[in-house]
Amino acid sequence: MKFKLLFLCFFLSIGVSFAQETESINTQYRAEREKVSDLVHTKLKVSFDYEKSQMPGEAWITLTPHFYNVSELELDAKAMLIHKVTSNKKELKYEYDGKKLKIKLGNTYAKGEEYTVYIKYTARPEEVKQQGSAAINEAKGLYFIDPLDTDPNKPTQIWTQGETEANSCWFPTLDTPNQKTSQEIYMTVPDQYVTLSNGLLKKQTKNDDGTRTDYWKFDKKHAPYLFFMGVGEYSIVQDKWKDLAVDYYVEKKYEPYAKGIFGLTPEMMDFFSDYTGVVYPWSKYAQIIGRDYVSGAMENTTAVMHQEMAYQTLGDLVDQNIWESVIAHELFHHWFGDLVTAESWSNLTVNESFANYSEYLWFEHKYGRDAADAHRNKEIAGYLSPDNDLKDLVRFHYNSREDMFDAVSYNKGGAILHMLRSYIGDEAFKAGMTQYLNDNKYGTGEAHQLRLAFEEVSGKDLNWFFDQWYFNNGHPKLDIKYVYSEEAKIVNVQIEQTQENLFQFPLAIEVFEGEIPKRYEVWVDEKSKSFSFKYTSKPDLINVDADRILLAEINDEKSLEELAHLYELGKKYEDRREAIEGLASQQENELAFNAIQAALTDSYYGLRIMAIDNIDLTKADPKKAIKTMEGLAANDEKTLVRAKAISKLSALDAAKYIDLYKSGLTANSSAVKISSLQALDKIDKEAALNFAVSIDNDMEKESLKDALLPIYIRNKTEEQAAFVAKNLWAGMFFSQEAARADIYKEGFQWVVFSDDEEVTQNLVDSFVKMGITYKDIGADTLVLQVLQQVKDVKSQSDYVNKEALVKIVEDGIGRLK
Ligand SMILES: [Zn+2]
Repeated sequence: MKFKLLFLCFFLSIGVSFAQETESINTQYRAEREKVSDLVHTKLKVSFDYEKSQMPGEAWITLTPHFYNVSELELDAKAMLIHKVTSNKKELKYEYDGKKLKIKLGNTYAKGEEYTVYIKYTARPEEVKQQGSAAINEAKGLYFIDPLDTDPNKPTQIWTQGETEANSCWFPTLDTPNQKTSQEIYMTVPDQYVTLSNGLLKKQTKNDDGTRTDYWKFDKKHAPYLFFMGVGEYSIVQDKWKDLAVDYYVEKKYEPYAKGIFGLTPEMMDFFSDYTGVVYPWSKYAQIIGRDYVSGAMENTTAVMHQEMAYQTLGDLVDQNIWESVIAHELFHHWFGDLVTAESWSNLTVNESFANYSEYLWFEHKYGRDAADAHRNKEIAGYLSPDNDLKDLVRFHYNSREDMFDAVSYNKGGAILHMLRSYIGDEAFKAGMTQYLNDNKYGTGEAHQLRLAFEEVSGKDLNWFFDQWYFNNGHPKLDIKYVYSEEAKIVNVQIEQTQENLFQFPLAIEVFEGEIPKRYEVWVDEKSKSFSFKYTSKPDLINVDADRILLAEINDEKSLEELAHLYELGKKYEDRREAIEGLASQQENELAFNAIQAALTDSYYGLRIMAIDNIDLTKADPKKAIKTMEGLAANDEKTLVRAKAISKLSALDAAKYIDLYKSGLTANSSAVKISSLQALDKIDKEAALNFAVSIDNDMEKESLKDALLPIYIRNKTEEQAAFVAKNLWAGMFFSQEAARADIYKEGFQWVVFSDDEEVTQNLVDSFVKMGITYKDIGADTLVLQVLQQVKDVKSQSDYVNKEALVKIVEDGIGRLK
């Protein structure tokens, strides 16, 4: 699953500070659930009651005793109505408390014997009250989206979200990750909808009442939380990997972009099959995008669900597919998570750390080491916080199982796998993965099984590694000092661990006298450790952790000269990044300025952007840098670089570059169009307005809204009020610059007095959505206050349709509560 982190990173990057609840440490030991009976097979027949948001169902659950004889069965079944329980057509006695269904089997079964219970039930997701997979709502497993088609802006859809233990809201099961079952589902739906579930669609039967029954069959075994159903009006865009179907389910208007969004999937399936040494083990691969999804994305076996952020237009995709890492992440779960599943949520690392690290592996394979390292850098930044210092990767004490889905299980876990790979070597890392997957396929795993697989393959003891990184917390915080003895021509590199838990780790140190370094590989295993290296002339640079492998905070104060050398001599993304960061504030010095100027043409586009952002064109002699910048703005192969350079030039001399902006407006990149329009708006407001009102494609408007909204707001463009109304909240609350937030507030002041019902509806809907999405940081309270004010405005007005307007706001307030 990929969820909270997306939001977390988002909030960290924009510096929002709503009140946040502090987690208290729980002392309860969270064991793997005891296996009394084992699931064997699950057969379901379901239909959907859109009026009540309920699901009438029948289940045939086949089980076998795990070891000891059984005469009773306890299934998870949340908030259901149970109508009937039988086995071999005989009615069975049962007790049901709304959570657990306890069945007397009327017989005693021994290990090896299978038995099937039949349950007729109604799933009532709206009645579920339990802790959830998401910030929003309770986890109710089964979600009806706009079931009665009352919202013109929203299609009617149904989708499910099982992780962590919510699928037992729609079928009775042993809802725990250490169970595995094969499955069949018969889904009866209105004929205009398509369906998606795990495995293969074997048969479709039209019924007399305008419905259709789709029969989905999944032969292999997987955990109950991976079951999935999706229903709605979708275009199915077909792709292929070897002879397997690879399908993309998107809303019709996104059909032309489906391959742009998901089209790398087959190549990823090739790469991951090859890298893990285990060929993609399932019968098809489908991805679907759902409305109002409660998570980021979910690895339901062969039926992955993504949230709406995955939708991107051509102009966005030209810049960057922002969803590519998520697509890789969910696919990789089909090995780590779906094929071998964490035996308990405490061991979530064997799912999520691998899925997280697959993002690195994919970027490295597809775009090279710099792109992968840039991704790792962001992931580590997302992990570094005092709270996370105290959490073990494998955590047997947590408050809520949902807490396991955090930057420790994901980001830190990924960084740990990167260190393991470096320590045992690429080939051993791959072979260890193959071993672990083959040993445990269609079963479960925990961290010890990982250790044993990597130990067996590499022949190395890895207890020390797992003890400190998996079963303990924190990371090295290092102070590094260099003491030179000119007489002896020796430099002493002193490394001090300042954190509480001591770590041991290998470290590469490179000593540069000129361009080719002398490389030393040392082992740090004490609080203070020092290493002496001989030199001929005083080194230009000493690069500690030269391979940029260690997960650590390193305090290594480099001089301006050393930083300039680091940019020039360091080969890694992190070297160049650290140099640019360190030199940015010292550009009155020519050496620093020149290094940043050189970074304008760095081979990695992310660093070119960083250099553009940081270069100070008022210092030193900027002529050459400006010329370079003009080249970047006109021709850089990455449109994101072009866009950034256009903004920088327009800040320097807006009028001079008017032709650049005009040609930028015809580019096929959203980013280039946005920066060009923003620049044009500074010098020719009328031309900017003319362009802004000429865009009538809704999706394009959405892509360009950062530039369009301020123009529409300033001009109070009446025809755009509905568009403005639905896009205000992000700018109002999450703008980094006050001036920008002010524009959106001005927009709010404008549209709040509108007597147009669509405008009011859009305003209310978007605020309610924000309130629900960011409920975990208190946004719902804030939105409630705003909507109360909106209601006051409407009810004190003299609009003829005042009552209709008030009702729209009241409905919104109702949905929020
Ligand atoms: Zn995941």
